[in-house]
Amino acid sequence: MSNTHHQIVIIGAGTGGVTVAAQFKRKNKDLDVVLIDPADKHYYQAAWTLVGAGTFDFKDTERPMESVIPPGVKWIQDAVSSIDPDKNAVQLASGHRIDYDYLVVSPGLINDYSLVEGLGDAINKGGVCSNYVNSEYTWEVLRNLKGGNAIFTQAATPIKCGGAPQKIMYLAADYFRKHGLADKVNITFPIPGSVIFGVPEFAKTLMKVVDRYGIELRFFHKLMKVDAEKRQVHYKITAESSMIAGCFYALNPEIVDLDPSETDVVLEYDMLHLAPPQAAPFFIQESKLAFSDGPNKGWVDVNINTLQHSQYTNVFALGDVAALPTAKTGAAVRKQAPVVVENLLHVLHQEKELSPGYHGYSSCPLVTGYGKMVLAEFKYDNVRDSDKMISMFVDTTKENYSMWLLKKYGLPFMYWNLMLKGKA
Ligand SMILES: Cc1cc2nc3c(=O)[nH]c(=O)nc-3n(C[C@H](O)[C@H](O)[C@H](O)COP(=O)(O)OP(=O)(O)OC[C@H]3O[C@@H](n4cnc5c(N)ncnc54)[C@H](O)[C@@H]3O)c2cc1C
Repeated sequence: MSNTHHQIVIIGAGTGGVTVAAQFKRKNKDLDVVLIDPADKHYYQAAWTLVGAGTFDFKDTERPMESVIPPGVKWIQDAVSSIDPDKNAVQLASGHRIDYDYLVVSPGLINDYSLVEGLGDAINKGGVCSNYVNSEYTWEVLRNLKGGNAIFTQAATPIKCGGAPQKIMYLAADYFRKHGLADKVNITFPIPGSVIFGVPEFAKTLMKVVDRYGIELRFFHKLMKVDAEKRQVHYKITAESSMIAGCFYALNPEIVDLDPSETDVVLEYDMLHLAPPQAAPFFIQESKLAFSDGPNKGWVDVNINTLQHSQYTNVFALGDVAALPTAKTGAAVRKQAPVVVENLLHVLHQEKELSPGYHGYSSCPLVTGYGKMVLAEFKYDNVRDSDKMISMFVDTTKENYSMWLLKKYGLPFMYWNLMLKGKA
């Protein structure tokens, strides 16, 4: 098989890859930039939450890949199967090899069902749904539920858009209420963490939303198994035994069926929405670019402020695949992309100083019902980082109709017309 050489090779034409490619070309149209991606469609995944609640058309979340490739950028429709950063080369599934001067890594992440027993067989049928997998099926399950137990949950791995599992829960709760089913459906939210949201200013509002919908919230619940035949979901409580009583929260404590001595929990479901376990793509996990050990094992090892690889100075990473201690979102990518572009061009021009310009910004548009949204913006260490301009007009820690309009209309427009074109 033949080798080809390119100046800047970008792995993945998703949110990160396309945004960065477009920004490179805006800076200098003579740069030789290629995007490698096997997919023939590009998705605006952030709207899948709304698709799952029947308020956005799935077709409007997808576009043909060729339509989002920036002018002057070459798209190689192939999958990267391995990376050899010592030789500045990537191997493609077709057998072709591409040599590069500079590499940008942005292949997103994968759903790894093997980490929860029974999940691979259970998903997408029998009421087991996920907006991360098939948001149209979520909507089918939701609108067909007439009563029983609706469980919303998430795996204990890092996941993209950590707020997405609760957004669909609030929309579902609002849907049940609007359709006279609020008394017939019990909603439970078992999560692996110890708080509903990491940033206290937003968590306060969300706890009020939980109370309003009568949701039973459970902390320290590690998702272990889905038994599709018995329609049961299994958890292990990970808190110390003295803390177990604190793992359960409900405004009305009578709805909690609590046995403080029990660490194995089995819940019956009629509807089960989950965020599946997620991991870096296998070719990344196996590469020299990933952490080989520790809590970040498998994710790409980059400087958390410059986004340059810690050992290979001609390699940068952004998006879901990067080991960054912040939420994995498209909003985070928007702030990471200019830092990657600026710093890679610094290296290209042999300028020593890199910009430590990324401070962990991420944002989660927390939809709390049809027509209601809390815009959670934050940076490293869970410090609130709300947009100053928006904050002049709106208290973004509170539920707001204007933020809902932003989510449903404003952000999709910005994504397709500004961000992917390197303008935002
Ligand atoms: C249900 C849901 C709700 C969300 N809500 C929001 C939200 O409200 N706000 C928000 O900001 N973000 C949200 N997100 C997260 C957001 O979509 C992602 O964080 C963002 O798309 C990450 O960009 P990325 O470039 O890292 O990965 P992606 O956009 O996923 O792109 C990865 C690309 O890499 C390609 N690829 C994979 N393997 C290979 C390979 N071997 N070789 C070459 N290419 C490869 C894929 O085909 C894909 O095109 C949500 C996501 C989901 C699923």
